[in-house]
Amino acid sequence: MKKNLLLLEDNAERIAAFRAAVSALGEDWVLKVWYDAPTMLAECEDCLEHAALITLDHDLNPQPGVTADPGTGLEVAKFLAGHLPPCPIIIHSSNTDRAWSMHNEFRFAGWPVDRVGPIGDDWIPKFWLPKARAMLAEHKSENIFRKPADHTERLHRTFISLEGLAIGDAVGEMLACRNAEAPRIIQAGLPAGPWFHTDDTEMALSIVDILKLYGHINQAALARRFAWRFERDPDRGYGKMTRIQMTEILAGADWRQTATSAFSGQGSMGNGGAMRVPPLGAYFADDLDRLVAEARVSSLVTHTHPEGVAGTIAVAVAAAVAWQVRSASPEHRVRRLFDEVLRLTPESQVRRGITLAAQTPSTVPVDAVAKALGNGSLVTAPDTVPFALWCAAQHLDDYVAALSCAISGDGDCDTNAAIVGGIVAMVTGLEGIPPDWRAAKEKLPFSC
Ligand SMILES: [Mg+2]
Repeated sequence: MKKNLLLLEDNAERIAAFRAAVSALGEDWVLKVWYDAPTMLAECEDCLEHAALITLDHDLNPQPGVTADPGTGLEVAKFLAGHLPPCPIIIHSSNTDRAWSMHNEFRFAGWPVDRVGPIGDDWIPKFWLPKARAMLAEHKSENIFRKPADHTERLHRTFISLEGLAIGDAVGEMLACRNAEAPRIIQAGLPAGPWFHTDDTEMALSIVDILKLYGHINQAALARRFAWRFERDPDRGYGKMTRIQMTEILAGADWRQTATSAFSGQGSMGNGGAMRVPPLGAYFADDLDRLVAEARVSSLVTHTHPEGVAGTIAVAVAAAVAWQVRSASPEHRVRRLFDEVLRLTPESQVRRGITLAAQTPSTVPVDAVAKALGNGSLVTAPDTVPFALWCAAQHLDDYVAALSCAISGDGDCDTNAAIVGGIVAMVTGLEGIPPDWRAAKEKLPFSC
């Protein structure tokens, strides 16, 4: 496999000198150049797996004929510092203040980082190249990328679950105060978009980011990603404890510490682990034992209480089994869904609630079911997950009816609908989601 040098640089002469330096590093090296920050931000994540060294300028001028703002190296530094370090990084800007700001972004994020001042005409062969060689010799690369051979296929169904989740979240949030009328409003036609999603989708996006990058849940990377999204867009209805945890992580705290110290050391039993996990169920839908392990570690980044973990596992398994039984008969689907969820969910209040949900016939009115199982108004996993699974199970092949059911149960409407949407989309596929709903929903950074 070729080793990649990722370069942010706008100057043609310097780029030519870097090309010569890369040749000097060896035949197995390839240079990837970005001339501006926005393009590098959009593309560099896909190159991290094979990045052996990164070198960044700060001040950037537009390329000839280009009018768009080229951005700065600091923007790229902030983005990359939200990732686990795959390789060393050199800052080669003469803008000293900004170069140190970039250096700090990486240093605080644990990256091997150093600076080279661009002094004189031959600084790239004279200073940069020896620095690069020294850093490469010192760096021990740990393989954090573990994508399975069928990664792309897995991601495809992961995006479908995410789309179902995000639209459920947005519709649930929109109708939260009109839950009793939700079925009528949905029937009559929802207002024009854009429909905005909330924290459920933001956190699910981070799960998908990490799966897309690494092919598994890396807890440190997931904690960084949660915090990175929170910092950029905090007004998404995050719960109080999550806001505390994210703020602490951004201030440099270890995610293990923030997660385990929540609620006086009991850990959170909130529904936050469950609300974001359906896409993980989709990714590992063919291996339920592996899924249980991945769901557990995904929960522990923020929700360490056994009830929070049990709720996360239950929802992840439900999404996976929904995908497995998508072609089975309706009766078989529901039985299999509850059987597998109950088999794999640890003994807990969550599991006892799901046992009751499995025994609750579809003929029972939604408000009575919500009263018996809980509807998320306590925002805990045991109060949320059994009801959400019941709604999903009653309408596995009808996305609109499933959301309508979840929302009309009142309580934590956006979270209930997000969970239900992420599960049911595994059976209905994107074809089961009304096209005008998909068009009205705020766009996600992933497309199915
Ligand atoms: Mg929410």
